[in-house]
Amino acid sequence: MAEPVSAPKGTYDILPDDQPLRRWVVSQAEAVFQRYGYGRIDTPTFEETRLFSRGVGESTDIVRKEMYTFEDLGGRSMTLRPEGTAPVARAYIEHGMHTLPQPVKLYYHSPMFRYESPQSGRYRQHHQLGIEAFGSAAPEVDAEVIGVLAALYRELGLKELDLRLNSMGCRECRPGYSAALREFLAKNTEAFCGECRERAQLNPMRTFDCKVPACREALETAPRLTDHLCPACAAHHARLQECLAVQDISFVPDHTLVRGMDYYTRTTFEFQSPLLGAQSGVGGGGRYDDLVETIGGPATPGVGFGTGVERIILALARGGGTPPGPRHPVVYLVALTDEARREAFSLAHQCRSLGVAAELDYMSRSAKGQMKQAGRSKARYAFILGEQELADHVVTVRDLVSGIERSLPGQEAVSLAAAQSADL
Ligand SMILES: [Zn+2]
Ligand SMILES: [Zn+2]
Repeated sequence: MAEPVSAPKGTYDILPDDQPLRRWVVSQAEAVFQRYGYGRIDTPTFEETRLFSRGVGESTDIVRKEMYTFEDLGGRSMTLRPEGTAPVARAYIEHGMHTLPQPVKLYYHSPMFRYESPQSGRYRQHHQLGIEAFGSAAPEVDAEVIGVLAALYRELGLKELDLRLNSMGCRECRPGYSAALREFLAKNTEAFCGECRERAQLNPMRTFDCKVPACREALETAPRLTDHLCPACAAHHARLQECLAVQDISFVPDHTLVRGMDYYTRTTFEFQSPLLGAQSGVGGGGRYDDLVETIGGPATPGVGFGTGVERIILALARGGGTPPGPRHPVVYLVALTDEARREAFSLAHQCRSLGVAAELDYMSRSAKGQMKQAGRSKARYAFILGEQELADHVVTVRDLVSGIERSLPGQEAVSLAAAQSADL
């Protein structure tokens, strides 16, 4: 026998039983996004590599070591989308959306690809739900974006989430802070890992991405950006906090929250769940007022978030939430003779044509075997067809919940199932 092929490391198959929960999460999210006025956008699975190296930043872990980059047959460097914001910003520019009334509010649900180490509980292909609002620098939009994510988590029944909040400053105030941080890192080199020393050279802010406990401890005493904000950034941050209070959203200030991308300015935020252990982030985002310009568009502020579908599902599995189970058929057709099998196939077709989920046996099982399958399928009704039923032009309809049986003409049986189906 040939050596079996497995799914690539860090990826997984989404099996039929896993689909209902996933679809429920996505449909709840889409309902919330649309309620706040966001419209769906889908961008290609791959983009030119320079979109990410310029947009996300050369100094980030994502660009340095996590991208799936390949040369296509035309000799162009392409990269599987590692994050959602840069592609949506690219589309905003490409389609001239800056000429529309602002802000332009978009959402996406897309797979993302990153070469993560699998033992960290992260996937190399994961699915993200995200929103982006372009064209307004108002702190109310930051508050709305955080409010959308809070509403989504609340409606999914996710509990015990902590919101972490930070401000990354702007072009005016960040250089001064970067210099102060660089000085701090130079004075305390021995406290940091080799990776951090490398980061300190490229972009000192990136040391906050480090997960090494000693580095995190050393950063506790580092200078804080929130102490270096210019008056405009400080006012923006203060107004955002007022707008969060209006929405009853509490938060914990976290001056180490930089979220792994170079494009963030001013607000960054992340919802964390203690149920997820070390990788506690469920979703987050921030403002990126320079991104559109960085990738070749007109100066346009923006703010958004991304939240991983797998992280949400894991958090739901570990604590509360009442997601729906897999969908069961309404009807299971049981045929006792070969002639009855023909009638069963026809009735199954009629059920399905009316939108009624129906199942039947294709394995020549005995009557007993078929009844067992009917029970296992968790169908509401078994439609039983034997010699007698065919002779009388009826179906024996057994309610598999109450056990009550009655004889009905085929059409009436199908109508009964359709009525039941409409109630689901
Ligand atoms: Zn500033
Ligand atoms: Zn480190």
